[in-house]
Amino acid sequence: MERVADDMADHVICLLPGDGIGPEIIAEGVKVLNSVGEKHGTSFSYTEALIGGAAIDACGTALPEATLEAANSADAVLLAAVGGPKWDTTDPAKPRPEQGLLGIRKQLGLYTNLRPVQIFPALVGASTLKPDIVEGVDMMIVRELTGGLYFGKRERFYDEAGAGTGGAAGQRAYDTMEYREYEIERIARQAFDAARRRRGKVTSVDKANVLETSRMWREIVHRVHDADYADIQLEDLLVDNAAMQLINRPADFDVVVTENMFGDILSDEAAQITGSLGMLASASLGDGTALYEPSHGSAPDIAGKGVANPLAQILSVEMMLRFSFDMAEAADDVRRAVTCVLDEGWRTADIADAATPSEKTVGTVRMGDLVVERL
Ligand code: NAD
Repeated sequence: MERVADDMADHVICLLPGDGIGPEIIAEGVKVLNSVGEKHGTSFSYTEALIGGAAIDACGTALPEATLEAANSADAVLLAAVGGPKWDTTDPAKPRPEQGLLGIRKQLGLYTNLRPVQIFPALVGASTLKPDIVEGVDMMIVRELTGGLYFGKRERFYDEAGAGTGGAAGQRAYDTMEYREYEIERIARQAFDAARRRRGKVTSVDKANVLETSRMWREIVHRVHDADYADIQLEDLLVDNAAMQLINRPADFDVVVTENMFGDILSDEAAQITGSLGMLASASLGDGTALYEPSHGSAPDIAGKGVANPLAQILSVEMMLRFSFDMAEAADDVRRAVTCVLDEGWRTADIADAATPSEKTVGTVRMGDLVVERL
């Protein structure tokens, strides 16, 4: 579908549907935005661009220049998901869908990823953990997004001499984890600011017993804390211990701040506490245009079947209203509508259980319609 931004609209949003279930769920996000616009007297206009596998097929690259331009000139970006088996490759010379994601984060300067992990009361039973452990879980994972291992120098080569291996020639590869002082300082500030809006506690996760980047991370986080955020409770946790504590006592966490790769892994673990990846949204913020997306991937196994859960996408619209458009009341409305639909027992297949009657198990479009009706 061709979309042209309406210059008269209050907010221009760049849509990046991507691959797999992406186009199906983003359509529901737009439906909700339009409904919010009507209710709150605001107009949204949309541009649309290619990213990921769809962009590789059309342009040979996962992040075409036109996509970056569309994203840069919008007030916010709504992304669905990228990737799929069609583009899976281990050949470093071939383009891969996730290069689109990493590239747009870097190019838009999106150094903070916020992932709220909350349990909707109606879904307490969906978690694999016991209800008394998950009840009350409400944390915000603050992940550094543009530094560390995913962006450091890397190489793969054939080592003829087999240096350091007693002469055994073979392939060799390395990735490097690098952080600069300002990168840690600004993410620490984001975490402490988030904690001030919440319950006032930050858990900083690192591997300071082994990694030099982590020792510097810990030092800087404490310096920022002592200078400007002494009112916030700060605790340090080694990443291996954090992985255990997240499932042991998830309700104890408020804000969790960590570097890029640790955050990638821990946020997926935390997502499982809620029982469904289809429920979790995220916001990536920098100094300019922000990007909002579900935490899950492109779910190629269910793409095109009309059964994908659109709620993570809809909840990323909620975050967009809150962080990019300063529309807290509208954002609260969206959350209330989602809560109401779940309380009434409506489920998509991924969050349905044995007790869900078949007439309450709905597809992607119907779930979007229900949220709009409750709005
Ligand atoms: P995935 O999140 O796509 O799917 C994991 C499982 O959860 C699947 O069974 C899937 O059907 C289910 N699921 C995910 N979202 C759902 C939804 N909204 N409704 C119902 N069920 C849902 O992860 P994966 O299978 O590891 O990866 C698939 C592709 O997505 C890969 O190519 C991967 O690289 C990519 N990926 C993209 C992103 C992103 O775009 N941000 C994130 C993770 C993975």
